[in-house]
Amino acid sequence: MHEMGIACEVLAAVRSEAKRHPGKAPRKIGLRIGELAAVDPDALRFCFEAITRDTDMESLELEIEICPFRFRCLACGHEFVVQNYDSQCPQCADMKTECIGGQELDLAYLEVEDHEPSAVGTKSTQ
Ligand SMILES: [Zn+2]
Repeated sequence: MHEMGIACEVLAAVRSEAKRHPGKAPRKIGLRIGELAAVDPDALRFCFEAITRDTDMESLELEIEICPFRFRCLACGHEFVVQNYDSQCPQCADMKTECIGGQELDLAYLEVEDHEPSAVGTKSTQ
């Protein structure tokens, strides 16, 4: 199951980030997953719970944010959410558009015990 690999990667990132906060336990982790990243959030949550069970990370809460499939028009700069794979600009009807979202798999934030959010900036590609 490929979500298991991602869950392990996420946990490794949490552990390395937690080292920068000695004495504070990670409480909550935010993940950004693109609509097209081919990741099942429920499966990922299940895997994450499975690998953290009976460990010091057991109480870690996983929050998943789904990012929509988005495009930006190169002609007018309009940003829009793509439906039915139609990438034409809804504002000016130009066909020259670029994908700006939908394939993310990012660690958005990590909260440690004192609820101080910490930017991580870890990017993971498949
Ligand atoms: Zn446009």
